[in-house]
Amino acid sequence: MANLEESWSTATFEDKVKIMAHMSEKDQKRNAENVIGFCKDYCGKCPTYKGTGETKLGFCTLGKSSVIEEQKGCLCSQCPISRTMSLRWDHYCTQGSAMELSEAEKHQI
Ligand code: SF4
Ligand code: SF4
Repeated sequence: MANLEESWSTATFEDKVKIMAHMSEKDQKRNAENVIGFCKDYCGKCPTYKGTGETKLGFCTLGKSSVIEEQKGCLCSQCPISRTMSLRWDHYCTQGSAMELSEAEKHQI
């Protein structure tokens, strides 16, 4: 079998989503918890987030915030989830989830 670690590291976000769709419910739940765990240290400390009263996290997965309106910078590129999932966007709290942004790109062509 090809080096799985290597193929994962070079896979696109879209490929990773397909691979993850085959994961067990338990693993998917653990992944979601992982996202929130990391997100606290990035979204939670981000100028766009702080002071807005928002308490939710994981916008790259769950989609836009219903509270945050003004963009004041984004720390997502520094978050390990961006690298792990090959995320290529930012400001998920105001722009939508990675899945939504990926879909939007397809319709731009
Ligand atoms: S998605 Fe980006 S801009 Fe929004 S709160 Fe998180 S780090 Fe900040
Ligand atoms: S990439 Fe951004 S939205 Fe996603 S977990 Fe990291 S900091 Fe949060």
